[in-house]
Amino acid sequence: MRDFNIVVLGAGGVGKSALTVRFCQDVFLETYDPTIEENYRKVIQVDGTPARLEILDTAGAEQFKGLNEGYIKAGRGFILVYSLTQEASLREIDMLRQQIYAIKGGDTNVPIVVAGTKMDLVNEREVSNDTAQTLSSRWHAPFYETSAKRNWHVTETFEDLVRQMLAK
Ligand code: GDP
Ligand code: MG
Repeated sequence: MRDFNIVVLGAGGVGKSALTVRFCQDVFLETYDPTIEENYRKVIQVDGTPARLEILDTAGAEQFKGLNEGYIKAGRGFILVYSLTQEASLREIDMLRQQIYAIKGGDTNVPIVVAGTKMDLVNEREVSNDTAQTLSSRWHAPFYETSAKRNWHVTETFEDLVRQMLAK
């Protein structure tokens, strides 16, 4: 069975852990220590192909930029997470994306999916669907708005990434 090394990156508090844990364990994390970095494993079937996912839920990256380099070197596919309730978190993933390309030697074929989180917080939205869609298209990355709380588009996000990785 093929292994898929996935790294979940984004600013603190955007919902990286909630997204990862919803996908791997199908529960919603109401509170979670923002400093905990954890590896998760899950076997899934994508279009009939079994895939063993190893998912690194990163933490504290924005205070320790140096850490990102190690994460990015080790990763083969990336979920770039921003919160649609926090505009600054979208700029953060732009920087992360540039860092990925720099570290991967300018390879623009690195599998990436952009995930906007907290779609259920409709009254707190700061980033429109259009804005994120336009940016993601420019990066040639698929884009999903998700909610870990409601379990909206969480599986789709990870499956899309694995499809891209399978095609590599
Ligand atoms: P991380 O620092 O990026 O790992 O962020 P967390 O996953 O720890 O989430 C930060 C906070 O946002 C927590 O209180 C979560 O419960 C909350 N949160 C994460 N995802 C969602 C979501 O989809 N909907 C709502 N309403 N809250 C969320
Ligand atoms: Mg976390």
